[in-house]
Amino acid sequence: MAQRDHYEILGVMKGATPEEIKAAFRKLASQHHPDRNPDDPAAAVRFKELNTSYQVLSDPQRRAMYDRFGHRAEESGSPFANNGPFAGGVIDFSDIAVDGILGDLLGVFGVGRGDKGDLKRELEVTFEEAAFGTTKSMRYARIVSCVDCRGSGSSPGHTPDTCSACNGRGRVRFQQGILPIAVERACQRCKGRGTVVVHPCDGCKGSGLVSNENEIEVTIPPGVEHGATRVVTGAGNRPKPDKAAGDLELEIHVAPHPFFRRAGDDVICAVPIAFTHAALGAEVVVPTLDGKGKLRVPAGTQPGTTLRIKGKGMPKRAGIGRGDQRVEVTVEVPTSLTPRQKELIEELAKEIGDDVQPQRKGFMDKLRDLFG
Ligand SMILES: [Zn+2]
Ligand SMILES: [Zn+2]
Repeated sequence: MAQRDHYEILGVMKGATPEEIKAAFRKLASQHHPDRNPDDPAAAVRFKELNTSYQVLSDPQRRAMYDRFGHRAEESGSPFANNGPFAGGVIDFSDIAVDGILGDLLGVFGVGRGDKGDLKRELEVTFEEAAFGTTKSMRYARIVSCVDCRGSGSSPGHTPDTCSACNGRGRVRFQQGILPIAVERACQRCKGRGTVVVHPCDGCKGSGLVSNENEIEVTIPPGVEHGATRVVTGAGNRPKPDKAAGDLELEIHVAPHPFFRRAGDDVICAVPIAFTHAALGAEVVVPTLDGKGKLRVPAGTQPGTTLRIKGKGMPKRAGIGRGDQRVEVTVEVPTSLTPRQKELIEELAKEIGDDVQPQRKGFMDKLRDLFG
């Protein structure tokens, strides 16, 4: 029977790096693992095929031989063949860590084997809290080992039995047909623990773990940015009673503000003003991080002008002081005028000339040059 090319089986190029080969194997082995495809016998065949190809291509010597001689390098008589001196070896899948497939211990809680208990949560702060810093108290659920049974899962006075399927090793090794390797994986009966709970603890139903509410105080530094993370040591899950708790990583989310948005150290805010203010100049009320503030709009301010209020921005990321507040001026044209208002503006329109509107004057001049 013609054998398929090992590179083709793993879906990699001939010149693939060891990392690319490993990554391709991880991905495919996870897809075709028999545990994940219990009803598909073809998956087991494919899985064996993947193993064989990976065995060859992950070993520099065997790969070199394969590149030179093709499948003949693996035939009997070759030192690398099934019965040759270099055949065999044990793949320990924990080394490849195919997530969620092997040793998926305590999966109900999302705590995997070898899990140190690190947790991730989001913490929302207001725009003002992000600007000036604050201390926030936060309540969240975390997984800790059950105190009733000290994490054993067995009710008081009982101890778990040694698992008979793996003799307490937690892992089983099996030889697969013609494969020149023994595959090792977590014991399915005891989920890799090596022991089986016979009299489950009432508090944790035998899992040895409970969900607990925890409260912590988190210090938010002034000027913290959206998406910044803070790590609270020891505030994560504690799945093992004899090991320290994992860490809690908090991702800071700064809530949107009705007026402000951030640009580096500056705070930007759009402020609509009346066209009369823009023409005549005015002192207008603007929101600032420190409350209501006053801003002098000079006479003749154009729409889209940005005015600055010094030192009303965010705390500077690189040292002392604060950024500025940038006020983007929008000019509002009045709508639904009363007859009296309309009359006044009409009078103004007759009175006003292009001389005081230089942009319009320039535009009209160009128009005349072009079309006469
Ligand atoms: Zn318990
Ligand atoms: Zn077992």
